Amino acid sequence: MSLCVVGSIAFDAVESPFGERERMLGGSAVHFSLAASFFTDVRVVGPVGEDFGEDEYAVLHGRAVNTDDIETISGGKTFFWRGRYEDNLNTAHTEDTQLGVFGDFEPKLSEASRSAETLFLANIQPDLQRRVNEQCEGARLVGLDSMNLWIDTARDSLVQTIDGVDLLFMNDAELRMLTGESNLLRAAREAMGMGPRAVIAKQGEYGAALFTPEGFFALPAYPLETVHDPTGAGDSFAGGFLGYLASQGEGAGEDEDVLRRAMAYGSTLASFNVEEFGTERVQRLTREEVDGRFDDFRNMTAFAAVPSA
Ligand code: AMP
Repeated sequence: MSLCVVGSIAFDAVESPFGERERMLGGSAVHFSLAASFFTDVRVVGPVGEDFGEDEYAVLHGRAVNTDDIETISGGKTFFWRGRYEDNLNTAHTEDTQLGVFGDFEPKLSEASRSAETLFLANIQPDLQRRVNEQCEGARLVGLDSMNLWIDTARDSLVQTIDGVDLLFMNDAELRMLTGESNLLRAAREAMGMGPRAVIAKQGEYGAALFTPEGFFALPAYPLETVHDPTGAGDSFAGGFLGYLASQGEGAGEDEDVLRRAMAYGSTLASFNVEEFGTERVQRLTREEVDGRFDDFRNMTAFAAVPSA
């Protein structure tokens, strides 16, 4: 099944205790696409400026991501984000956000993108996410991510957008902020009440938790000795998760076993993403490496029952 994603396509400047980059390819839709491309055909939708060139396209094409619906706005500048991480790599401090070509972007999807069965509304202004969702009449499974900025500045629009999706991906702190509930379980229930069938709470280095009508499932993050840049971890997680679901056909979003495997693939892709800056690690990742780490996850999280006397 094909998968369509709308979100930011960006240049990022990142500083972490392990180094810095002044301008590298980033954006929620980019990190998502690269991760999802290990499982299914991916089409990315969004605007870029004239400063977005061959090198950036080459990264997406290197993973066979379809870029036909990337629109170059003449005279425009690509979305720019500057972030900084302290020793605690869990929190990104946003130092600059320049919407650039996203300021007055009007999405026009091709027929192929409109008919994708799976849609991901990656982090971007919620009105824009909703307009894309409305155009994708063929989508049977829709996921959404967002962030504190939009909860603060466009909450009503975001709540309206959440009502139209099946799966909600958010950081635990953002779920608490969205719902006003400090207890994560209550926050997830409250968020499910807004429309989605399931909620996935991302918890940085502590892993991720899945809330469904059937119950609860959680995985730790993959234990890594080297984390250079957490930027894009959430989007890579969602890419691995939804890419795998899309590869499993109709009904996958309601199958508890498939959803749990999707949690492991999401965690796997996120773990590779954070090992190096930006898209550096995922660009040269192989499917064998993905499957190897997926198996590690199974071994890490299984334990035997108490032996009978
Ligand atoms: P993540 O670390 O997965 O939460 O996402 C990081 C990516 O989100 C970076 O590559 C940024 O370019 C992008 N980003 C940061 N702020 C925004 C925003 N306000 N809207 C859309 N994308 C953003």
